[in-house]
Amino acid sequence: SRSEITYFGAGPAALPTDVLETAAKALVDYNGTGLGIAEHSHRSQYATDIINNAKNDLASYLDIDQSVYDILFMQAGGTGEFSAVVYNLVGAWVQNKIFEASKEVTDIPQDELVRRLKEKIANELKLDYIVTGSWSLKAYEEAIRLLGKEYVNLVVDAREHNNGKFGVIPDESTWKLSENAALVYYCDNETVDGVEFPAFPEILRSKPDSDSNPIVVADMSSNILSRRVPVNDHSIIFFGAQKNLGSAGVAVAVVKKTFLPPVTPQPQPDIMRKIGLPVPPIMMEYAPIAKNNSLYNTLSIFDVFIAGQVLKKLLATYPDKVDGQRKVAEQKAQLIYGALDKFPDVYKVVPSKGARSRMNICFRVIKNGDVDAAEKEFLAQATKLGLTGLKGHRSVGGMRASNYNSISLEGAQKLAKFIADFAQS
Ligand code: PMP
Repeated sequence: SRSEITYFGAGPAALPTDVLETAAKALVDYNGTGLGIAEHSHRSQYATDIINNAKNDLASYLDIDQSVYDILFMQAGGTGEFSAVVYNLVGAWVQNKIFEASKEVTDIPQDELVRRLKEKIANELKLDYIVTGSWSLKAYEEAIRLLGKEYVNLVVDAREHNNGKFGVIPDESTWKLSENAALVYYCDNETVDGVEFPAFPEILRSKPDSDSNPIVVADMSSNILSRRVPVNDHSIIFFGAQKNLGSAGVAVAVVKKTFLPPVTPQPQPDIMRKIGLPVPPIMMEYAPIAKNNSLYNTLSIFDVFIAGQVLKKLLATYPDKVDGQRKVAEQKAQLIYGALDKFPDVYKVVPSKGARSRMNICFRVIKNGDVDAAEKEFLAQATKLGLTGLKGHRSVGGMRASNYNSISLEGAQKLAKFIADFAQS
C-alpha cells in the first residue's frame, strides 16, 4: 500500500498523500458545487482564484516580488521552456535593437531597419549556455536547432573538465561568457547527473544600477522550493511542476516584467521573418500568457490546484518558508550521502563532492567488482523494503535516489539504514 512505499523516482515524483486526497475530492466535487475542478470552466472565478492563490503562495514562499516578476503557468513542460526562453529573449534582444535604431533615426524606413538589424544580428547576437549535465545540454541543443550554431556560445562544457563525463561544476574562471548575450543559461540542478550548483554563480550576479547586467535564465525544474533563490539576479526562472511542485502538466515561468509589454513587446512577425529569425508559436510567447493571467487558452486548472495545495502545505509546515524546507532537504541529503561515504568499497558517488545534488543522489554499487550484479541485488532488496524508484536514468545507469521535498525525514533515514545494511551484508 501507499504507506509502505517510499518512492525515490526522479519525476513524476511522489506527492504528499493528504494533497492527493484533497485533489481526489476536488476532482469529483469542488467546494460542494457538484462539479469537479477539471470540469469547471477555466474562465470561472474558481479557476481564477486557484491561479491567483497559487501565484501568491509561490511568491510568498520564495520571496518573489510580483511587481517586478510575472508568474506564468505554461503548458509544454520544462522542455517547452527550452524553446520559449530562446524565442522570447531573442525577441527582446531584437526589439531593443529596434528601439536603439529608432532613437538614432526617427521614422526609419523598414528596408533600412531590416538592413541594420541583419548587420547587428550577424555581428552581435549570442546566446550563452553553461552546460553541466544532460538537461542544460538539451537546452543548448534546442537553441542551436531554433537559431543555428553561429548564434549559440558554449560557455563551458563540464565534461571537458571531468574525463568526458558530467559530474563537476567547472570553476567560473574557465567560463567563456559573451559580451551582452541575449541570455546566459544554466540548469541549477541536473536531474540525470546529480549535479547541483552549490550557490548562484558569482560571475552572473547583477550589480545594482548597472544597465548591462547579464540576462540570466535558470532551469530549476528539479530543485525549486528546496532552497532560497536569488530571484533578482535572474531574468527568467522556469520549472516543470512534476518534482517538487505538483503533477506533470504545467510548468512555471517567473519572468521579469521588463521583458514583457509594455516595456518590451515581441517584434512584429513580419520583421522577424525578414531578418531571418524565428517567430514564436503563440503558446510559447510570454506576453499573451502574461496578459491573460495564464489563461490565453484552456489551462489544466486541476494541475494548478495540486501545485497550490503543495504550496499551502509547505507554508503551513515551515514558518520560515523555504529556509525551513532547505534545512530538512540538507539533513536528508547528508543522511544519504553520509551512509554512502561510509562504505567507499561498496558505493561510489558519481558527481564530485562540490557538485553533489541535494535532490538527485547518483551513485554506483561497486561491491565485489561486479557492478551489474551488485546493482540488481541492491534494487531487489530495496524494493522488498518498500524503497522504490531507485534505478538511475537509462542514459547513465547506476542508482539515483531522488530526495525531493515529499520524501520524509523517516524515508531518508530508512534508505540510509538500508544503504548501510546492504554494505555490511
Ligand atoms: N529540466 C530538468 C532539470 C528536468 O529534470 C526535466 C525533466 N526531468 C526537464 C527539464 C524536462 O521537463 P519536461 O519533461 O517537463 O519537459
